[in-house]
Amino acid sequence: MTSPWTDLVAAADPSLVLPVRPRGATTEVTGPLSLVDLIDLGGGHSVGVVQTGDGDRWTVPLVREGDTVRRSLPGDGTAERLVALLVQDTHASSGPYRVSAWHHETVTGERGVTVDQTNESVVVGERAVVKWSLRLPSDGEPGSPAPQRLAALASAGFGETPRPWGTLERVVDGRAVLLAAVVEFLPGAVDGWDWMVEDVRAYARGDLALDAALAPSRRLGSLTARMHVAFAATGRGEATAEQAEAWSQAARADLAEALEVVGGHEGDRLRARAPRIEAELDVLASAAGAVLIDVHGDHHVGQVLRYGDPAQYSVTDLDGNPVLTPSERLVRRPAAVDVAGMLASLDHVGRVVLFRTEGVDAAAVRIWIEQAQAAFLHDYRETLAGMMSADLLDERLLLPLRLHQEVREYLYAVRHLPHWVYVPDLALADLIPSEE
Ligand code: ADP
Ligand code: MG
Ligand code: MG
Repeated sequence: MTSPWTDLVAAADPSLVLPVRPRGATTEVTGPLSLVDLIDLGGGHSVGVVQTGDGDRWTVPLVREGDTVRRSLPGDGTAERLVALLVQDTHASSGPYRVSAWHHETVTGERGVTVDQTNESVVVGERAVVKWSLRLPSDGEPGSPAPQRLAALASAGFGETPRPWGTLERVVDGRAVLLAAVVEFLPGAVDGWDWMVEDVRAYARGDLALDAALAPSRRLGSLTARMHVAFAATGRGEATAEQAEAWSQAARADLAEALEVVGGHEGDRLRARAPRIEAELDVLASAAGAVLIDVHGDHHVGQVLRYGDPAQYSVTDLDGNPVLTPSERLVRRPAAVDVAGMLASLDHVGRVVLFRTEGVDAAAVRIWIEQAQAAFLHDYRETLAGMMSADLLDERLLLPLRLHQEVREYLYAVRHLPHWVYVPDLALADLIPSEE
């Protein structure tokens, strides 16, 4: 395509495609850039699909400034214009773009989301959140499972997720790829890495009773069960022997990599525990027959927003696990994947409190870690049973999947956040107590 934007993008620095991150971007992008196509939002704003020198494609909200172009920042007004487009078009296509809208409201004013995030979200008018997708799947690869998963949950009557306002997708050869999703903003919402860490601190200081500090974990248990029952209502499958074998192989491969790259005392302790971890990961290979459903895929406390008084909980971010390939994110998996993910994060909340709180009552936090996991699991099981769906949880998979999650935490630490290695190190000490 040619438009004034084409030359401007070609002349831009490769960092054009990246959002500005508080911690500094670690992603390397090679030029030259080229504009694949774009949807013009007017007033010098557009959403471009930009290809890098490596052939990767990125969604980029763009703003023109004289004879240059840059990635628009929260406050520039590009997200606001996308929301305005939803008001005009309920279901419209222009070129390769499709706009779908379920809620029409004009809102103004933008601010960025400052918490740790994978994509880039912008709050518009304190009413909506626009989440720009970043790197797009390559040709032939599927896009984010989020639109289908949200539609499935909605059709099954599950309402504990922010209401969708609309989506902007790029459709090529009948394949839709999500460029941006707009959902209702939940006022005062904070994610679990904030609210739960604060709750546990308050409990460890003696400002919150243990029962009150455990109540949210119970709520997460029942919420997770309702989400799974809703997913199951839209279809279920059964794990084949090949699938089960592949899960076990993938987990073993991650462990092998962790054993190679984790150094220091943490590495020594991981190597000492490796035979028992391997034995547990082998259990995954015998999971043929386990019930498979659509799952959240990246289910942890950071995906659960708390808002309102009395407190309400809402689950977000159904893009799937960022460490899996796009096609792997799409397939049905055992419900235990999400259960293990949440259990791991409850443990990690406690570790974060221990590590980052001066003079904390460590014994109290350890009690919370154990009981929060038990409370979550208890209410998860009870809710499933109450909904005649106990068969969704294959109990045999919980420990191996928990262990696989901790193995992934080592890899995450080595790749992105070295000090985080203390978290899986301490978590494994509880999961695999030493024999002496
Ligand atoms: P990512 O995939 O980038 O992690 P999320 O969907 O998890 O994106 O959103 C990132 C953050 O934005 C959340 O942790 C939360 O702080 C905030 N956020 C997302 N959706 C909403 C919403 N509907 N209301 C309020 N805040 C939200
Ligand atoms: Mg998230
Ligand atoms: Mg995410």
